[in-house]
Amino acid sequence: MKKLATSLALIAAFFCVAATAAESNDTTLLLRPARVFDGTTMHEGWRVLVKGDRIVAAGADVTAPAGAREVELANQTLLPGLIEGHSHLFLHPYNERSWDDQVLHESIALRTARAVTFARATLLAGFTTARDLGTEGAGFADIGLKQAIDEGIVAGPRMLVATRAIVATGAYGPKGFEPGVEVPQGAEEASGEGVVLAVRRQIAAGADVVKLYADYRWRPGEEGRPTLSAAELRAATEAAHDAGRTVAIHASTAEGMRRAIAAGVETIEHGYGGTKEVFALMKERGVALCPTLAASDAVARYQGWDGREPAPKAVEAARSSFKAARAAQVSICAGGDVGVFAHGDNVRELELMQAAGMPARDVLIAVTSGNAKIFRIDSKVGSVRPGLLADLVAVEGNPNEDVRVLRQVRWVMKGGAIVAN
Ligand SMILES: [Zn+2]
Repeated sequence: MKKLATSLALIAAFFCVAATAAESNDTTLLLRPARVFDGTTMHEGWRVLVKGDRIVAAGADVTAPAGAREVELANQTLLPGLIEGHSHLFLHPYNERSWDDQVLHESIALRTARAVTFARATLLAGFTTARDLGTEGAGFADIGLKQAIDEGIVAGPRMLVATRAIVATGAYGPKGFEPGVEVPQGAEEASGEGVVLAVRRQIAAGADVVKLYADYRWRPGEEGRPTLSAAELRAATEAAHDAGRTVAIHASTAEGMRRAIAAGVETIEHGYGGTKEVFALMKERGVALCPTLAASDAVARYQGWDGREPAPKAVEAARSSFKAARAAQVSICAGGDVGVFAHGDNVRELELMQAAGMPARDVLIAVTSGNAKIFRIDSKVGSVRPGLLADLVAVEGNPNEDVRVLRQVRWVMKGGAIVAN
């Protein structure tokens, strides 16, 4: 499989504004938390030295150079800024307003106003980077939001954006209107050679990641079925990779997942219908799974589930595919499909991963260095390591024992600037 040799240019474009903004700031800070999770391991008694927008040193014997300011983070654990793997900043919870109504009846201006507040909530929850997988009918507004964040106009995480996302013609929604009447859709429709055109248009507009739907239900209430063909997915993935972009595929059926794996994509989103054989293929081809446990949990609750066991079928399917993927040693991306549930509540996915049997330490790895590696941004963020951007979060307590501790955010730094204290 062709790896993304050209992704460096993309990453440079993604981070250049932040780097420029922090150049004028060469303050040196010595951070003194109780412990440091460096992206893979917990270290008691470590200190971290930050100069300007970068981490310059981390370890037990790091001392404050002359002129450095010391920041006491007593009883707190310092971690790399968390990375949300699957968000929709242009959606809000479906129990507030249905997805159809959001797509059909909310203006892009209204949706953008909401997205600005959601970006801030995400950052304050300790998530300093977010991969936002489609505006769901809000056009290319994510590109402008990303720019506003990078220019310091509004507060938010570093963003990897997908813009409109791509679906097979006729396969998505909203549906149920007079046949032949054109109704606004939640993503860009394309077929045949048009799929590659759509990929290139979205990349030209500013997409960092290309999101495609390999399957969907053709009508409300139906089972999901494959939508884009194997050839369409392959051609789209090649076009994205040629441009140095990664590819995220929505797939809930075994056949949709098979086609995505064969196309050589980076991540599969949801994967609820994955089988043992499909997960073995994902492991073999290095495709990561973003299990979005919180999405199925939230939707089930909106439909009346009170959270008691036994859980509804859809929730059980999400849990068991997650377990099967872990048993097959598939790399796990941490991303909850935030937007289906409230922005700022991103930790919900991590809690569900832990509840479904993933040790806390593995969850911490997934949401920091793991996501960074899968998204090809690990040379910039995701670890506490000299040379990386100073994106850091401090939480009260030790999340290595229980990831629920990640809700106790006390301090957030992005690119060397303290954004929450
Ligand atoms: Zn999604």
